Amino acid sequence: MKIGPTTRTIAIVTVIVSAILGSSYLVGNASNQEHERERDTSAAQSYDSDAVRGARHRGDERTGSPASPSSRARATQSAARNPARPGDSAPTATDAPQGGAGPQKQGVAAGPPLPASFNQSVVVGPGKPPLMPDTAGPFGSRTTTGTVQVALTFDDGPDPTYTPEVLALLDEYNVKATFCLVGEMVVQFPELVREIVDQGHTLCNHTWNHDVTLGTKSKAVIRADMVKTNDAIHAAVPDAKISYFRHPGGAWTQAAVDVAKELGMSSLHWTVDTQDWTTPGAAAVEKVLTTDTALGSIVLMHDAGGKRENTVDALKDMLPKLEEQFALAALPPGIDPPKLHGRDLPIHGGQK
Ligand SMILES: [Zn+2]
Repeated sequence: MKIGPTTRTIAIVTVIVSAILGSSYLVGNASNQEHERERDTSAAQSYDSDAVRGARHRGDERTGSPASPSSRARATQSAARNPARPGDSAPTATDAPQGGAGPQKQGVAAGPPLPASFNQSVVVGPGKPPLMPDTAGPFGSRTTTGTVQVALTFDDGPDPTYTPEVLALLDEYNVKATFCLVGEMVVQFPELVREIVDQGHTLCNHTWNHDVTLGTKSKAVIRADMVKTNDAIHAAVPDAKISYFRHPGGAWTQAAVDVAKELGMSSLHWTVDTQDWTTPGAAAVEKVLTTDTALGSIVLMHDAGGKRENTVDALKDMLPKLEEQFALAALPPGIDPPKLHGRDLPIHGGQK
């Protein structure tokens, strides 16, 4: 069949139009692929952010630069070692016995000592302390720092005699610790609370008047006690972060742990019980510190509630020795929710 000029023109136009349409389809397709790549990249970046945050918990990321592949790998390994439990799970058969826990070694991953300052540079949110998960204590309370760091904790203060002595020793050795404060003491000695915070130590709510039966009372009573105590601390230091709660006598109940969580506080048990409140002599306190302190330990001591010369004397002797062996650090304070492009960062597993 003979192809006329008109038919040829139509054919040429069709080819040209097809070419244009085809190329625009290809351009569109390429553009879509670009968007897909962008989505992939942003997904990878958010994964990176998690890895960076994970790395920061272990002190790998001290400069804020993106995580290296090896640190990502370590973050993944760490996540495998420390799987976060969903929600506020009740204690399981594998949990420690309820009630006071004696000294125990915890399976904290070994690693090089971390700089004492690394907790302060952790950036996660919102509003709760960034820690690796640990719910091994009574009613899902925390017994370890979740890192190789060792945390010294001082209960029942502030006390006008012993708190300044403890603070001076901590300052001398540049050690940061965590103080579990009693509301009635806070209202009497607010300047000591300010000094504790000013020196870079972190805070824990230890109830209004050290009622060891508080946890057996109604949630409303428990909540009122915790809120009153936090209000007293905030009256002394308005912007203080109070991210931990410790029940007097370690007499935890599910209700106490639940209410603490509702108020944004992690329940803080311990690993090492120095029994210093029984005034057993400085040597006995030192022996417990020497024998039982391990990587990740939370050490229970008292700077108030009675005569605490044993505690002060033991600290004098043991702070330099413990510092040689361990990275001593305060449990991290809660932080304000950081904003990422207008969105809160997801809650870290350890903030539950
Ligand atoms: Zn106490």
